[in-house]
Amino acid sequence: MADFRRNSHWLGEALDKDEADAPSLIGDTKADVCIVGGGFTGLWSAIHLKEEDPSLDIAIIEKDVCGAGPSGRNGGFVLSLWGKFLTLQKICGGEEAVRIANASADAVGSIGAFCEANGIDAHFRQDGWLWAATNAAQINAWDSTLEAAARYQQYPFERWSPETVAARSGSDRHLAGVFEATPASVQPALLARGLRRVALERGIRIYENTPLTSLNKGRPPRVRTPKGEITAEKVILAMNAWGIRFAELRKALVVVSSDLVATEAMPEKLAEIGFDDGMTISDGRMLVHYYRTTLDGRLVFGKGGMNGLMPYGGNIGTMFDGPSTLSKDVEHWLKWTYPALSQARIDTSWAGPIDRSKSGLPFFGGLDGRSDILYGMGYSGNGVGPTYLGGRILASMTLGKKDEWATCGLVRQPSRDFPPEPIRYFGGHIVRRAIVAKDNAEDAGKKPGRLTEYLASFAPAGLSPFKGQKAGIDN
Ligand SMILES: Cc1cc2nc3c(=O)[nH]c(=O)nc-3n(C[C@H](O)[C@H](O)[C@H](O)COP(=O)(O)OP(=O)(O)OC[C@H]3O[C@@H](n4cnc5c(N)ncnc54)[C@H](O)[C@@H]3O)c2cc1C
Repeated sequence: MADFRRNSHWLGEALDKDEADAPSLIGDTKADVCIVGGGFTGLWSAIHLKEEDPSLDIAIIEKDVCGAGPSGRNGGFVLSLWGKFLTLQKICGGEEAVRIANASADAVGSIGAFCEANGIDAHFRQDGWLWAATNAAQINAWDSTLEAAARYQQYPFERWSPETVAARSGSDRHLAGVFEATPASVQPALLARGLRRVALERGIRIYENTPLTSLNKGRPPRVRTPKGEITAEKVILAMNAWGIRFAELRKALVVVSSDLVATEAMPEKLAEIGFDDGMTISDGRMLVHYYRTTLDGRLVFGKGGMNGLMPYGGNIGTMFDGPSTLSKDVEHWLKWTYPALSQARIDTSWAGPIDRSKSGLPFFGGLDGRSDILYGMGYSGNGVGPTYLGGRILASMTLGKKDEWATCGLVRQPSRDFPPEPIRYFGGHIVRRAIVAKDNAEDAGKKPGRLTEYLASFAPAGLSPFKGQKAGIDN
């Protein structure tokens, strides 16, 4: 199979073999804005900023190459925030939740239009998203979300019959589901590398293989790297899960793994089962299963939620890099979901860190309440679409505007949502064990025990709400 470089098959496919990395930073320099992190948040922030004020001098530093983080190794679901409407409503209030959810749906089209306008072939296919049940307990898990949206005359989802769900998903493991037409799928590393190219063309400086080693919080702040530093009027921390190195952000995030496998190319087989368009599918379990097909006819299947590895403290290092340590388990679930593909060969696997906030929603603000060191993270495994909005929010905040983005409901100080170590690490493992037990019981058609339900209720908000969950989406 294609090249596996820098942590995912996607990125191997997207890296132009002849293209050199951008230079590392050597020596000291100044910039109006220094962005730490060359993923979607950092790149969209830079692009939005440049569109607002072309005279700005913007420098991005990236510890690896742009797109080497989750932006270049995710499942490629470009979702809106409608699936998270309950928590959105809880955090921002109903009217603002509707505005943000609609803006997030518009962002999907804007990403497609941006690709079109700038010659980025990211395999963008706007074929929608199916929120499905793969066991009886998951059926109707979406009801409270649809009902909450309907109270505002918003109807982003269609209810499909069980027959349609089984036929369109390509497997009768899917018992029920609702469909949202707006979402798209992409080959994410092609998108990340395309944004990098556009950023460079627009005069944004990019330093790759340049990690932030420390942040000097003087005024103005200084971003230190191994061989030089950048003094900037404004700093944007677009570091995703790696942001947990900052204690203020760590208290609001828990970092978990998401793991993916890709089958061999088998376009005829996918056509035969009836699942070969750009539609994306997630099921309703807590350790969520998510899958889609690729243009060259592979099935890419992931397992997330609170899966796999969890770092202790604030240091992630390279623990999520390389092939997935859970590939056999993910393959098992792929074949459980698609018995017709039981003979499919798995060509590759990879993994990456997820920055889960308690609400499942991203948050944006100023570190220590400052207006010159900004952050945006907490996408919780749904960032491909929402980072477009995140970039807009961070651009407005950087420019000191008081518009609908800088003041939107996702701008908030991080609260102490997760305990400090060692409770966080050991507690996290206990909660995860309960989640696995809950999912397993429900697959077996049994009701999970009360202790299991109680411990699982401490998990951060996922897609499907359940009664008693501490993240408060059971209403
Ligand atoms: C396996 C997996 C599957 C996923 N599937 C989906 C999906 O299908 N749909 C969806 O919407 N979301 C998905 N996500 C989540 C999505 O990928 C992220 O929310 C999104 O990419 C976040 O973009 P970002 O720019 O904030 O973070 P990143 O892409 O992680 O960018 C942050 C960058 O900061 C860099 N960095 C970190 N520390 C430093 C430092 N000290 N100095 C300099 N640079 C640093 C990192 O190398 C990285 O490139 C998935 C994530 C994973 C891991």
